Amino acid sequence: MRYISTRGNAPVLSFEEAMLTGLARDGGLYVPETIPQMSVEDIKALRGLSYEEIGYRVMRPFIGGTFTDDEFREIIAKAYSSFGHDARAPLVQLGANHYLLELFHGPTLAFKDFAMQLIGQLFQAALGRSGERVTIVGATSGDTGSAAIEAFKGLDAVDVFILFPHGRVSEVQRRQMTTPPESNVHALAMDGHFDDCQARLKDMFNDFDFRDGVRLAGVNSINWARVLAQVVYYFSSAVSLGAPDRKVSFTVPTGNFGDVFAGYIAKQMGLPIDRLVIATNQNDILHRCLSTGEYKTSEVHPSISPSMDIQVSSNFERALFYAYGQDGNAVGQLMDELKEGGFTVSQGALQALGEHFDSGRVSEQETGATITEMLARTGEILCPHSAIGARIGDQAQDGETPMITLATAHPAKFPDAVEAATGHRPGLPNRMGDLYERSERVTRVENDLEALKSLVKDRIAR
Ligand SMILES: *Cc1c(COP(=O)(O)O)cnc(C)c1O
Repeated sequence: MRYISTRGNAPVLSFEEAMLTGLARDGGLYVPETIPQMSVEDIKALRGLSYEEIGYRVMRPFIGGTFTDDEFREIIAKAYSSFGHDARAPLVQLGANHYLLELFHGPTLAFKDFAMQLIGQLFQAALGRSGERVTIVGATSGDTGSAAIEAFKGLDAVDVFILFPHGRVSEVQRRQMTTPPESNVHALAMDGHFDDCQARLKDMFNDFDFRDGVRLAGVNSINWARVLAQVVYYFSSAVSLGAPDRKVSFTVPTGNFGDVFAGYIAKQMGLPIDRLVIATNQNDILHRCLSTGEYKTSEVHPSISPSMDIQVSSNFERALFYAYGQDGNAVGQLMDELKEGGFTVSQGALQALGEHFDSGRVSEQETGATITEMLARTGEILCPHSAIGARIGDQAQDGETPMITLATAHPAKFPDAVEAATGHRPGLPNRMGDLYERSERVTRVENDLEALKSLVKDRIAR
């Protein structure tokens, strides 16, 4: 299996290389050269299997020769052993035909753990074999960073630096990043928004001297291995509800488009998915783009669903690549226009996107009201992101196809918003009960590329 860049101008890589690299050298994102197919029989055979075994069967064709079958099975087993639920991604019912896929039973209580715990084990296995060391730098709106730190802390071959927007992550998110005592963990609170953090991260990757000098590796949601890990729960949940004998639809609270893009890959592999519904908060660039074809960035407005406060949705580039018939030049041109503030999706490409994706937007007030209402109607306490999904998922039902809404974080990760909506402050699960007592370690940094680069070089030289 070989991986190509969405901009068509970077070296073709193996799975291992694409995973260790993250961003392609032409600024694009890696995608598989061809998408492996699962037949109706293959999908039927997933019924009743463990999450790990489903993961093995779904992901194996993408890995190529990077790991043996036994190695890959062991990697998956280790990745999910720290989850607090045997089913890993359990389904609960919200309404007659509406289901919630709980993706928050991992060690940092958000769906990012599904990908990051796997990537930690994949890196460990690959680097252990080659004896190399890498520097991981990530940007986070809160959940990616905590998941990355949890997955990489204490590993010998890795230093992990996480940039987060100072003052714009929840206390639980911050503490999950600042309390691990391991010396290979570096939490950096940067002035600005998530988009600023993401921009500095991209700058570091585009500085090839720096990139090669520190052996930079990326684990942001642009990393193909992360998308791949997320494909698995689309299969596990759809099969539980009767696929491939009947279609299902998904609603996905969306920021950087990684999670919902994984659903698109599942569909391309043969899973009978009817609609993939993109749910955004008031930072609704994706909803506007799907509705009008105009992809225009504007100010980020901080919301009670901070993990979706994004205007530049990195993984959308992958969807555009397919919508433009895998034309890397066309994608490269759109991304150049984006630097000037935006672009217009062609009629043909907009139609291609519309064959798979719908979208909706939820206001702040509606988000809170949905948390209140869902508790009354179902007894479920939703985090604000999941509430946005549940509201759009309710609206998008067609009365026949089961709708699965992805619950992306545990309510205890966003206790202020949940308390405001329900009057109850959700408690952390027992396994992380002392988070508020642990001491914090964080470095304040300016939004300045040169300063960031020297900090990284200094820290890894020690
Ligand atoms: C990251 C995140 C999202 C958005 O996921 P994308 O893959 O960036 O679209 C939604 N909800 C929560 C809780 C998250 O952590």
